[in-house]
Amino acid sequence: MRFRELGIETQRQSPSNVRTEGFAFLVRAGYLTREGQPTCLGESALARLKELSQSDSFFAKLKIPTIKTGDETFFAISTGDVEILHCPVCNYAARHEVALFKKQALPAEPVLPLEKVLTPDCNTIESLANFLGVPKEKTAKALMFTRLADSKFVFVVVRGDMTLSQAKLKKHVGEVRPATADEIAKAGAAAGYASPMGLKDALIVVDDLIPQSANLVAGANEAGYHFKNTNYGRDYSAEIVADLVLAEAGDPCPECGKPMIAFDADLLADQTGYSFENILGALAEVHHDGKGLMFPSSVAPFDVYLMQLPGKELDTHAKAEEIYTTLQSAGISVLFDDRDERAGVKFNDADLIGCPLRVTVGEKNLANGMVELKRRVDAPSKSIKIEDVVKETKTII
Ligand SMILES: [Zn+2]
Repeated sequence: MRFRELGIETQRQSPSNVRTEGFAFLVRAGYLTREGQPTCLGESALARLKELSQSDSFFAKLKIPTIKTGDETFFAISTGDVEILHCPVCNYAARHEVALFKKQALPAEPVLPLEKVLTPDCNTIESLANFLGVPKEKTAKALMFTRLADSKFVFVVVRGDMTLSQAKLKKHVGEVRPATADEIAKAGAAAGYASPMGLKDALIVVDDLIPQSANLVAGANEAGYHFKNTNYGRDYSAEIVADLVLAEAGDPCPECGKPMIAFDADLLADQTGYSFENILGALAEVHHDGKGLMFPSSVAPFDVYLMQLPGKELDTHAKAEEIYTTLQSAGISVLFDDRDERAGVKFNDADLIGCPLRVTVGEKNLANGMVELKRRVDAPSKSIKIEDVVKETKTII
């Protein structure tokens, strides 16, 4: 393809809305608009990715680090919209909201008698723990919902130091919404002072740490009061006992027990297919240097960036046209920079766009029947005979 036909404009400076270096180069090289929409060049790159995705070991060919969580493949990037927990030791990874972790029960202790205590203005776990002088993990946090499917009142209990994962809850009970004040009152609970004891028509769901946690402080279902020493099994039971809480960075990996780390990521593929635009973004992030993009041969939109430097005595343009035809006839994809631009502009654009190989037709080489060949990755340029250009190109790409 000829550069003029691409209809792109390269940019010397990074646009002001750059989020990452890779994204900035995709915009500067003319693959994406500032708004992130693919241009004609971007579409060529995406088409090449789609074609390559039909072959085996697609991600290995891209030479980008990926993280797998079951059926999903991710790329870690600060602008990613999915939060991942990952174990750097054994490679366990999962979306944050469904990540597992090795849960640790509190030390066992003798079960104590229930004790009703006055707890004025203690309608949060923090205020309650402070008021009673107990750690948050010795409290039971109540969360109340209504199931969408059948309007069933759902009462959830997790340990006070933990956070409910809505995604995990949904897996066990289906879609829910927060319960209204009327629904809470009807079930016999009191907002801010709620517990699963003595409720009517409630589906009680507790985190699996609750049966292992003795003597928790829980609401008395009466404003201003809590119970000390509530115990699962003795004071209440549940229809569902399951893992319901969010894992956090630093929590022990469910497989090997080492601390997990959290990061943001883009989804590259799942069971429904690939996200080629995210893959292009990941490629740009990994394969660039200070001057521009450096796509691996297998995914670059063109194999060769062909350019000519204006000659004073020899017609470099005509020779470049000839080489353009020769390379294309040999099945090599070429981006031919046939613009009337200064050499510096063309060299800069070749580096920005990042084709694996640059072929330059200049007067000095041409006088000796040669052209210059330069790989985009750090490598010295070399002069080769014009008749060898196809052979030499094929050995590199
Ligand atoms: Zn691990």
